[in-house]
Amino acid sequence: MSTTNIIRLFDPWNSELCTCPSKFSLNPYTGCNYSCLYCYITSFIPNAFHLRVKVDLIKRIIRDLTKIPDNALIAMSNSSDPYPEIEKERELTREILKILKTNNFRVIITTKSNIVIRDIDILQKMNSAISITITTFNENISNRLEPFAPKPKDRLEALKEAKKAKIRTSLRLDPLIPDITDNRDNICDVIEKCAKYIDQVIVSTFKPRFDSMKRITNAYPQLKEKYNFIYREREGNSLYLPLDLRLSLIELARNEAIKHNLKFSSCREGFSYLNTTTCDGSGI
Ligand code: SF4
Repeated sequence: MSTTNIIRLFDPWNSELCTCPSKFSLNPYTGCNYSCLYCYITSFIPNAFHLRVKVDLIKRIIRDLTKIPDNALIAMSNSSDPYPEIEKERELTREILKILKTNNFRVIITTKSNIVIRDIDILQKMNSAISITITTFNENISNRLEPFAPKPKDRLEALKEAKKAKIRTSLRLDPLIPDITDNRDNICDVIEKCAKYIDQVIVSTFKPRFDSMKRITNAYPQLKEKYNFIYREREGNSLYLPLDLRLSLIELARNEAIKHNLKFSSCREGFSYLNTTTCDGSGI
């Protein structure tokens, strides 16, 4: 494949734990001002919580599309959110979707925003799936973890609308953060509230890098000592919880998903044998 500019082959740091089907990644914006404390993009995008609009974006995307296979799967987005507040006015993601639809590309949207509802008219006419991240419905916790993102109840509304429009949907219950969002009540509550409106649950544990660890432990100083003790395993630049703890969390979420007749997968955990479909929501 000749060199593309904006649309890149998805390659999560060559991690052997990634079981994603082959796909491309397209970030309409650089950075994301939802500023989630656990976000990993600050480890590789300078000034990542300052959102920027890309120069000549549409022109460069049209050029890239001529270089990737017909009918390729395109994920929007892995290193930003395709629906920041500015998208209401700029409509760049909407413009891109129109182009992808015209050219029969497949798309999977991953977002934390209900602005996606605006584009349902396009998404329902193409091969698409929407994945919405909800880590908790506890507003005190979500206000702290995801200070500028739309409220979890608004994201739930977006799932409802997508389901009504017969678009395939998944919930990203991601990340499960020790002693913040990883308790049984929270996991069961999020899955139960979303169950009627989704086809799949995707789960992953918090895998901090240096900067996300710092943000979380600054916000929750009482967890610092515990995190120093439990986060000892390393994969690339990310720290991992001990295997048995991760497995128990993934199994708990899996049982809950299956109880609600939902498909299930975990993301970069090493338990792909527990997945009932592709890990990224593209298989539903
Ligand atoms: S919405 Fe996603 S990309 Fe944006 S700050 Fe939060 S985790 Fe990072």
